[in-house]
Amino acid sequence: MQLLTSYVEGAWFQGKGKASQLVNPATEEVLAETSTEGLDFAKALAFARDKGGPALRALSFAGRSELLRAMSRVIHKNRDALLDLAMANGGNTRSDAKFDIDGASGTLAFYADLGKELGDRRFLVEGEPAQLSRGPRYVGHHVLLPRRGVALHVNAFNFPAWGLGEKAACALLAGMPIVVKPATATALVTFRIVELFVEANILPPGALSLISGAPGNMTEQLTGEDVLSFTGGGSTATTLRGQTPVVRDSVRVNIEADSLNAAILGPDAEIGSDTYGTFIRDVTRDITQKTGQKCTAIRRIFVPTQHLEQVEADISERLADVVVGNPTTEGVTMGPLATATQLRDIRAGLERLAAESKRVVGDGKVAPRGVPDGKGYFVPPTLFVQHEPNKSGLAVHEHEVFGPASTLMPYDSNESVVALCRRGGGGLVSSLYADDRKAIREIALGIASAHGRVAITSAKIADQTPGPGTVLPQSIHGGPGRAGGGEELGGLRGLAFYSQRTAIQGDRAILDAILA
Ligand code: NAP
Repeated sequence: MQLLTSYVEGAWFQGKGKASQLVNPATEEVLAETSTEGLDFAKALAFARDKGGPALRALSFAGRSELLRAMSRVIHKNRDALLDLAMANGGNTRSDAKFDIDGASGTLAFYADLGKELGDRRFLVEGEPAQLSRGPRYVGHHVLLPRRGVALHVNAFNFPAWGLGEKAACALLAGMPIVVKPATATALVTFRIVELFVEANILPPGALSLISGAPGNMTEQLTGEDVLSFTGGGSTATTLRGQTPVVRDSVRVNIEADSLNAAILGPDAEIGSDTYGTFIRDVTRDITQKTGQKCTAIRRIFVPTQHLEQVEADISERLADVVVGNPTTEGVTMGPLATATQLRDIRAGLERLAAESKRVVGDGKVAPRGVPDGKGYFVPPTLFVQHEPNKSGLAVHEHEVFGPASTLMPYDSNESVVALCRRGGGGLVSSLYADDRKAIREIALGIASAHGRVAITSAKIADQTPGPGTVLPQSIHGGPGRAGGGEELGGLRGLAFYSQRTAIQGDRAILDAILA
């Protein structure tokens, strides 16, 4: 069994006392243990601020870009070993694991390209100067300078590689050092990636630290120029928002939390069309990919009333082919949930949905392939149908079941599906499968302000989209309300969180000289 360590103050730190265990969720075999007891979080953050910050700020965007490129390459070079780790510690199928590991290397490579284009600059200047007086000389510029603190990244259990990569890419390119704290239960992949970065000596001292295990009083050590970027559950987010440094010192916080994402089959969609085929493919993949443990997964499916039965039949047929079991066993297409806590929460969530909707696929029972008797955190893929989605108080519009389950519901007008979709209370992404432009305008623009992203699939691009569940670094990731109100990625927009926007006013000639 492996003992995980944290990487702080430029050295590996072994915690004392009672350790947390990391298990294989298919077999419950203990893979590793870790503890942060005795770790001085204040010193760890200070080292990052004092050593990593100046070193990164001294580099140009092109210089920081080279760091990201090297990080991406190291992950890619060790891809197979990392996939094996993700399968063992995360319950991922190989395809699930690729989604995470390749997502990390791809996002780092994307930001490396952006940094290269920015070249020798060390900070960003936004747009053109604004004239501030009658004469042309007195002007104002907005500049984005790296914040002189540390970026604390707290990640969820489901994406130990991508979660590290997507946050690290923006922070390091902006010029801020990072301290990453993965979810303890699946920390093996993040730990190994950081170990690889350290072995390859890619980053300057203090630019990257790792907390392997319990958070202790870490967030209480944050100061005014630090930022906290959190991905996880809504209740943890509420706790973090109330931390003293956040309230007192305006520590900047970004939250990526729960989401009741919807897929809408447009009113014009014809059964059997390319658009329809992509809709069925995306919905079934989102129920089973990563065993439904994806923040962007489709939890609610809205279809025109006349298509309800056909859609139910088509999704059910596909779900019938899913083979649940140990991801290392031949033929398995869906693995276990990641933790025992997840199993408990998902079972409770499924009961809640079953109390109000008809369960048409998945009766709660499962006989996982390649697993010792009674072991593992398995649930079957589950589909519900809710015939009266407009009823008030339905859990399907309020409670995220973070597992392989979704609910199919009918709608009868563009206006009503917009209202139903918006009942999710703010989401990361919803998707629309349609070709009729009037319907697309009414539905997509009707739901857009309740989401961070709206993905429209129409016939001519049906074979080109990766599906709404894939977060692409070119577009923002995040969403209002329940989804946390956060925003990450989106090309250079992702750097703004790690930068201070300052209006600099003065003589045009002087500003031109100092901001060049
Ligand atoms: P979680 O229980 O909220 O944990 C998330 C992270 O917060 C973990 O690293 C956890 O560490 C840490 N944490 C817990 N309490 C803390 C505290 N008091 N101070 C500092 N850190 C603390 O969430 P989860 O179970 O890992 O993830 C599932 C949830 O995440 C789902 O609801 C899902 O919707 C959401 N999610 C959202 C996105 C998104 O991008 N919007 C992406 C993925 C997941 P420990 O593991 O050590 O407890």
